[in-house]
Amino acid sequence: MIDLRSMRLGPGDVRHERPRVAVAPLTIAGQEYTVTPAELEPRLDLQAASGGLYLKLAFSAHVEGPCFRCLEPAGIDLDVRSSEYHSTDPNESDPELRCDYIEGDQLDVERWVRDALVFALPDKILDRPDCPGLCPRCGVRLGLDVAHDCGEPELDTRWAKLGDLL
Ligand SMILES: [Zn+2]
Ligand SMILES: [Zn+2]
Repeated sequence: MIDLRSMRLGPGDVRHERPRVAVAPLTIAGQEYTVTPAELEPRLDLQAASGGLYLKLAFSAHVEGPCFRCLEPAGIDLDVRSSEYHSTDPNESDPELRCDYIEGDQLDVERWVRDALVFALPDKILDRPDCPGLCPRCGVRLGLDVAHDCGEPELDTRWAKLGDLL
């Protein structure tokens, strides 16, 4: 949590902060993904205007966990950017003009970092591009130069891709 009141931001004021934010592993589709570093130091820019506050968040993180298709270790580097606007008018009723992460004078930067990180993730985390996954019959990892002869026809990765759309 960051106390915005203690910053005494007046119209036109700009602040750059480097809060320390601990990030617990993410659970996606029942699997655990670790975030490195576990303690992020996002760049947080605050700019006060006459009627509100502009907030910008930026950080890099590495997310690691099982491939969505074959469960082998996979990792992805993310550059996360997020921006918010918060009206300082207490009577503002438009939710678009209220930042979800500000309650009173408190900015919940931890929740914002986590949401921005999850939002930046691709649909699938794969150990190799177009990973064809496992054979549905014998469980062997497909697409590698391993002998595979359980009888299940091996799909071309182009077809595996198509299968995702179905
Ligand atoms: Zn895979
Ligand atoms: Zn097989």
